Amino acid sequence: MTENELRYNYFFDEWIIYAPKRQRRPDRKKDYCPFCKGSDEIGVNINEPIRLDNKFPSLSLEGFWSKEEDALHKSRSAYGKCEVLVYSAEHNKKFHELKVDEILTIFEKWIEATRQLTKYEKIKYILPFENFGQDVGASIVHPHGQIYAFSFVPHTIQNELKKIKEFIISEKTCVTCKYLDFEKKATSRIVFEDQFLIAVVPFSAQYAYDLYIYPKRCYGQLEESTKEELIAFAKLLPRLVKSLSKIFGKEVSYSLSLHQKVFNLSEFPNIYHMYFKLHTPQRNKQSLKILGAVESSLGVFINGTLPEEATKDYKKALKSLL
Ligand SMILES: [Zn+2]
Ligand SMILES: [Zn+2]
Repeated sequence: MTENELRYNYFFDEWIIYAPKRQRRPDRKKDYCPFCKGSDEIGVNINEPIRLDNKFPSLSLEGFWSKEEDALHKSRSAYGKCEVLVYSAEHNKKFHELKVDEILTIFEKWIEATRQLTKYEKIKYILPFENFGQDVGASIVHPHGQIYAFSFVPHTIQNELKKIKEFIISEKTCVTCKYLDFEKKATSRIVFEDQFLIAVVPFSAQYAYDLYIYPKRCYGQLEESTKEELIAFAKLLPRLVKSLSKIFGKEVSYSLSLHQKVFNLSEFPNIYHMYFKLHTPQRNKQSLKILGAVESSLGVFINGTLPEEATKDYKKALKSLL
């Protein structure tokens, strides 16, 4: 049985993951890469992205228990799964340097993982993502992403679903489609648009350069994309990542995550408009956005850059990449 556990915060209606096992991760020898050929985890050379179990996972499929001392003190095993997806055999290759075909194979693996992990009926949410750079906690340079499978609906998604449901009840339509219709007319926050995709800086972005990339068609998971949509994502995402380096004049840390519908739950409407989220904590050339009391105590973000200005920076950067 895992020593990791989930504890419920009644006041905020959210689960926190406690992962003391991760704290005990041994320090790696300098210059040792766990994802290079000949390492403990990889062994042989790889020709395509490979899924591996995270050696020090926060979530695990070993056993399930739950405990309720009272309504305010609920805990559970940290049931779920944490995987690593090693993109390439080449240690110094970056996501934005991969070929379209290589990125399509990464998508295939994310789709495969989503399909396999949601067969466990206790799994409710899957997050495929990549953390790149020290400022978002990535300690391994070798190109890789991760896949987390959760046995609960994360707080942010829960809130999002509540609003989606309210909108469906009152307006009988997908709120994201409605929002994108407005953005298309407004144009001032659209970074990119083609036949298949649209990339928008949110009207109310928390961080200066948050960027959401949606398919124009309304569907809930990457698996439902057509070949053309997958190719469009595979071409656009690396260019957007690259545009961050252009904007700041240096390589910056970022997270790229895939938001899909929830699984194995009947109480939520099964309408969700999937998207990728690109995020960087970098707020200007010199500094990172640090969360102070207003953000960390209240969740109220103070953003020094208007989304319309960030959009202009993205567009200029994208243009210079042509
Ligand atoms: Zn390596
Ligand atoms: Zn929609």
